[in-house]
Amino acid sequence: MRVAIAGGGLAGLSCAKYLVDQGHTPIVLERASVLGGLVAAWQDEEGDWIETGLHAFFGAYPNMLQLLQELGIEDRLQWKKHALIFNQPEKPGVLSRFEVPDLPAPINVIISILRNNDMLSWEQKIRFAIGLLPAIVRGQKYVEDMDRYTLLEWLQKQGIDDRVNSDIFIAASKALTFINPDQVSATIPLTALNRFLQERHGSKIAFLDGAPPERLCQPIVDYVTERGGEVRVNAPLQEIALTAEGNVKHFLVKASQGKPAYEVSADAYVAAMSVDALKLMLPEAWKTEPYFQQLQELEGVPVISIQLWFDRKLSDVDHLLFSRSPLLSVYADMSNTCRAYANPDKSMLELVLAPAQDWINKSDQEIIDATLLELAQLFPSQIPEQAQLLKARVVKTPRSVYKATPGRQQYRPVQTTPITNFFLSGSYTRQRYLGSMEGAVLSGKLTAQAIDKTAPIPAHIDSSNETSKPVSQSSTNAATA
Ligand SMILES: Cc1cc2nc3c(=O)[nH]c(=O)nc-3n(C[C@H](O)[C@H](O)[C@H](O)COP(=O)(O)OP(=O)(O)OC[C@H]3O[C@@H](n4cnc5c(N)ncnc54)[C@H](O)[C@@H]3O)c2cc1C
Repeated sequence: MRVAIAGGGLAGLSCAKYLVDQGHTPIVLERASVLGGLVAAWQDEEGDWIETGLHAFFGAYPNMLQLLQELGIEDRLQWKKHALIFNQPEKPGVLSRFEVPDLPAPINVIISILRNNDMLSWEQKIRFAIGLLPAIVRGQKYVEDMDRYTLLEWLQKQGIDDRVNSDIFIAASKALTFINPDQVSATIPLTALNRFLQERHGSKIAFLDGAPPERLCQPIVDYVTERGGEVRVNAPLQEIALTAEGNVKHFLVKASQGKPAYEVSADAYVAAMSVDALKLMLPEAWKTEPYFQQLQELEGVPVISIQLWFDRKLSDVDHLLFSRSPLLSVYADMSNTCRAYANPDKSMLELVLAPAQDWINKSDQEIIDATLLELAQLFPSQIPEQAQLLKARVVKTPRSVYKATPGRQQYRPVQTTPITNFFLSGSYTRQRYLGSMEGAVLSGKLTAQAIDKTAPIPAHIDSSNETSKPVSQSSTNAATA
């Protein structure tokens, strides 16, 4: 089957990858000049990579890790020591580490919490553990049911100390969803916690060894094109044209880069755009369908990425850090964490500003100034006196992953739509992971499977191809490497 896919983020590319594995011919149409969507990056005039956002991979990403293995690029993940590291606002410049020993889950995570005495008292730890019990014992069903509550409401309901919220959950909530515990659905952090408590290497963190378009997207493009598929950039979908019956007739690609508008016809069509872009593209005839109406309940959340180049080394920490500051969420010194950005003499911090609602319309300079003020708390001996800022870059994403407020789970659409030749893909669609890279890859795989079901592969095609295996939610992970 020929399959047209609008959107060259991780979901669209993953969908194309699994379609070629099943013997189909995908053609990916990406609006931008660079692939990757929310993981896109580009080089500035000085050759430095500017990224849409700091991206951390987790051991609890089975589909992403499986994809990297299938592409033969699993060595591009640089695994860090198994630990979660937090700044301590009350002790500027001092880090608090939850070191996870190499023992079976959940004992390893529990030991890491028990051993850390910087952030929680024993009483708080015990209350926290008791509060978490239903999620551990009753599993994902309970976690899904908690979508009724904000995280803050859930913590109060469980009698979990406010200090646990301010010490741990504000940081986790901002890192996972770019919003605070009084807004985020309890399901989101509980899902992440559950994975961390169930998988030995679930909370182990890795960084890609370079810019995602080169190191992650390009290998997928090569894989797809070598097997007869096609990937086009500067190919914005302008219209989903319909037949008289309301199915897709063709995708109309907008004129771009001096190329006139053109039609792409296929046997099946996939929208792998963000939910916000898709809503603008929906044909009038589909808008009354309840399936498409539910999309109105989903909306991207703003987030801002900041990269700062300094004239000296600020730290030797080779890890992701939770800043626990009001403005910032997570950050990393990429000169330590990422091979392609390595520099023994100068730091390059990549930071996530979240929640970004109040900042998205501010100037880059205002954002940089506010960030430097907070960094003075994190690096008190170097900022502002010692270290000089050489360069700063700000990337604003007004609508990123879907805003995971309470009640959203029910509106996340499955990949199969009521239109027989039209499918959805994207980290916002229904899959058991959050709006994340893992969610995007898994959604692409689920979409490819759904399409494949509509056209069973003829018997003469080699069915021993293991790479197109169904979704493995709990496959062994490469984090053990
Ligand atoms: C700052 C930031 C930090 C993040 N950190 C992490 C992290 O640490 N770990 C993690 O797992 N996840 C993280 N994420 C989330 C992760 O990046 C996303 O969940 C994932 O990349 C989404 O992929 P997607 O393919 O579903 O959507 P997108 O990446 O949004 O892809 C959609 C694509 O569709 C294209 N498109 C839109 N309209 C059209 C059109 N009309 N025609 C053709 N193409 C179109 C877009 O250009 C885009 O390329 C982060 C995101 C951000 C913004």
